[in-house]
Amino acid sequence: MQTAYITHPSYLLHDMGSWHPESPARLRAIDDRLHAAHLFDHLIHLEATRVQRSQLLRVHDAAYIDFVEAASPSEGLRELDPDTSMNPHTLEAAWHAAGGAVMAVDRVLRGEVTNAFVACRPPGHHATRNQAMGFCLFNNVAVAAAHALEEHGLERVAIVDFDVHHGNGTEDIFRDEPRLMLCSTFQHPYYPFRGADTVSDHIVNVPLPAGTTGTAYREAFTNLILPRLEAFRPQMLFFSAGFDGHREDDMAQFGLVEADYAWITGQVMDVAARHAGGRIVSVLEGGYDLSSLGRSVAAHIKTLAAL
Ligand SMILES: [Zn+2]
Repeated sequence: MQTAYITHPSYLLHDMGSWHPESPARLRAIDDRLHAAHLFDHLIHLEATRVQRSQLLRVHDAAYIDFVEAASPSEGLRELDPDTSMNPHTLEAAWHAAGGAVMAVDRVLRGEVTNAFVACRPPGHHATRNQAMGFCLFNNVAVAAAHALEEHGLERVAIVDFDVHHGNGTEDIFRDEPRLMLCSTFQHPYYPFRGADTVSDHIVNVPLPAGTTGTAYREAFTNLILPRLEAFRPQMLFFSAGFDGHREDDMAQFGLVEADYAWITGQVMDVAARHAGGRIVSVLEGGYDLSSLGRSVAAHIKTLAAL
């Protein structure tokens, strides 16, 4: 079993200001922890390629892509949303974040690796078809899942979004796409204040209260998500991998720890083994406390790589 680890130098150059929690230091913390945990040398390291416009167009409106590209500043910051801005390197990073997720799909579906982790920024799951929000510009995991459906002809793919925030952008994009199942656990009520009332046969939203611990989380995941995934029989699985539900991360109020992220990973790997030949692409979303982010990603990757 081999796991690809996909990065790009531009991911470190996107910077929304020293006060902003979605910072380049997040990726340095992950890199540092993968070295400390002796995981780094066991991974297949790949540099992301740039996404193609035709790949973005599967999930974003042309006018929105044009808007983001035109907004790219030559100096300073350009605000797209109160939480989300662009510096002169952001567009390059956003293109390569989506491109890295597409590359992961291609490598996994060609059988070159069993699974892949894309250590990208900016994150993506709040980006809707036509709106940047919540630190997100292009919806990386949505671009990747659409690529698996349209380019590779898969008939059923599933996204498991365990970020503490609801994956509203992903839901917006795939609302009318029954070939895709989205399973999202999230703190409720909390940003982005969506998802709790969704009625859909292929969108499985699991709102959970502030203070949810690993025990309660696992029970909800076991009862509400795993049976739906099993019945859907996805041919490939994706993670919207956000680690901001860690108990040390004060972005939100979940009580998850590294062992919980390893458990989620293992449960979804079991589904993938039964239905999808083990194929998983995991795309980084949130996680803002640097130490727990590094440890949690290490636990996630250690499980993915069976190390
Ligand atoms: Zn989040």
